[in-house]
Amino acid sequence: MKILIANDDGYLAPGLAALVKACEGLGELDVVAPEQNASGTSNSLTLSRPLSVFTAANGFRYINGTPSDCVHLALTGLLPTRPDLVVSGINNGANMGDDTLYSGTVAAAMEGYLFGIPAIAFSQVNKGWAELDAASRVARRVIEQVLRHPPSTRPWLLNVNIPNRADADRLPVQITRLGRRHASEPVIRQTSPRGDTMYWIGPAGDAREAGEGTDFHATANGHVSITPLQVDLTDHATLPAWRDWVGTSAS
Ligand code: MN
Repeated sequence: MKILIANDDGYLAPGLAALVKACEGLGELDVVAPEQNASGTSNSLTLSRPLSVFTAANGFRYINGTPSDCVHLALTGLLPTRPDLVVSGINNGANMGDDTLYSGTVAAAMEGYLFGIPAIAFSQVNKGWAELDAASRVARRVIEQVLRHPPSTRPWLLNVNIPNRADADRLPVQITRLGRRHASEPVIRQTSPRGDTMYWIGPAGDAREAGEGTDFHATANGHVSITPLQVDLTDHATLPAWRDWVGTSAS
């Protein structure tokens, strides 16, 4: 068993060390993570400059690029053999609902999935790394269980969100769908010391669709949330209506 471990908070993040600890003894581990915090970079690849790979004293490799760069490089030349599993995290904060589209943590796992490798993204619900040891034990349990009894012979992509609780590893697991968030808060306008107007992207909106069965609902009610993700963005439900629309608008 070979496991590739990445994240988006950077190679020095406590959550990365916690995920490595979760994987210890399960096989051969390779860590390839961004040099800097790259949260919110989604699936971006660095195409405008070359990338450098460095090795830290603890053996972690780090790259001056994005989470997707890390997994992409690892799979296309850095690693001598293809890993059997890609894991990402443990992220500093939730990746639920629409967050998953922006998340570098999910993107790192998704890059593995796009290469046909099963992959799991792990996040703690609250920022600040509280109860990270318990989250590490949850990650261990999920990885062991899914490797022992894979739900499908096809590659899968799981998004796991873990409440910051000391008893997180004793919480029941719930299979969920993504909730939805309200639109982001407005931008925050500031003036720089040199008099230029600058803008901060506002914080994410509150949960809008957080009913039973969603990731928001599960974690708020004392469950570890596992959402199986797919990459196909096609709106299959409205395909027939759009085909009719083309038919009628052409006549
Ligand atoms: Mn992050």
